[in-house]
Amino acid sequence: MSDLIKSVKAVPAVDYYKSGRRTCAGCGPAIGYRLLSKAAGPNTVFLGPTSCMYVANGHQYLTSPYAVPWYHTQLGGGGAAGVGTAAAFRALMAKRKRKNEDINVIVYGGDGGFADIGFSSLSMGMGYDYSRLLFVLNDNESYANTGIQASSTTPWGATTTFTPSGKVKQIGNLRLKKNVALTMAAHPAVKYVATSTLHPPLDFMNKVRKALDSGGPSFIEILTPCPKGWFFDPKDTVQFAKVALETRAWVSWEYANGEFRLTYKPRKVTPVKEYLKLQGRFAHLKDRQVDEIQRMIDEEWRYWEEMDKQKRIILPWTPAPEPAIVALP
Ligand code: SF4
Ligand code: MG
Repeated sequence: MSDLIKSVKAVPAVDYYKSGRRTCAGCGPAIGYRLLSKAAGPNTVFLGPTSCMYVANGHQYLTSPYAVPWYHTQLGGGGAAGVGTAAAFRALMAKRKRKNEDINVIVYGGDGGFADIGFSSLSMGMGYDYSRLLFVLNDNESYANTGIQASSTTPWGATTTFTPSGKVKQIGNLRLKKNVALTMAAHPAVKYVATSTLHPPLDFMNKVRKALDSGGPSFIEILTPCPKGWFFDPKDTVQFAKVALETRAWVSWEYANGEFRLTYKPRKVTPVKEYLKLQGRFAHLKDRQVDEIQRMIDEEWRYWEEMDKQKRIILPWTPAPEPAIVALP
């Protein structure tokens, strides 16, 4: 069991995700990787389905940021590779070919790797009883590695290269964001599911430790702002995560041992336009469309609060936009 981290001063000084990478300045998934590796510690094997976290961190030109074992998996195979690795360690220990010890197997996948192409593999992985097997979805709300195409976690209204806003389709992406974490909580074997973001950093790190100690398959979805795909100043990545929480554009929660709770309730709610206006991908939205996003967030928040009150998951709930708003000229 690992202790929870009580203060920033208690954060381990050693990094297992270091320099030698080629991610963009201010890359949210890279910051997430650093926090994840610090929380997990040295007895960890990382697996990386294809994503920016593979392409920009891989072994080209003889550089690599990983100071613990890491290997690449096929884009759709993160779940299966995680299970296979955990099974291999279990078998080697059972046959006394390895000493018995706690080894973390962590698959750090993007929204393509876990929300779309690798969704079925992830779902399969959540059905086994391997402890210390953790799947982390770094959600940057697009296929960033291949040029910022829409994924099923891209929010309504965002411009991507597959959902450009223009004369014919003014809004951009018309699909509603999939709530992957809630679907993972629906898996009967699951011991721990949470959402988090880069702020406050101890929230994510402690959720990683709780997940690894939960005794079963676990999953965390972390919102990781992507300066390149969202069009914002790279110096603001962590501040962005904070604004996402304060506007409730992102909701931080955990589901442990069958009990649900919100882990961040903003004291003073900030209007969502303060979050949207900082991002180029929403610059084309008209005031009425921004108001509609606010209405959907307010409506959804009532369900989150009710779940927090009842300590259980009621229903996956995604309010739909009014058809009249979608049809705005
Ligand atoms: Fe990171 Fe986005 Fe750049 Fe990919 S495109 S390396 S996710 S900032
Ligand atoms: Mg992505």
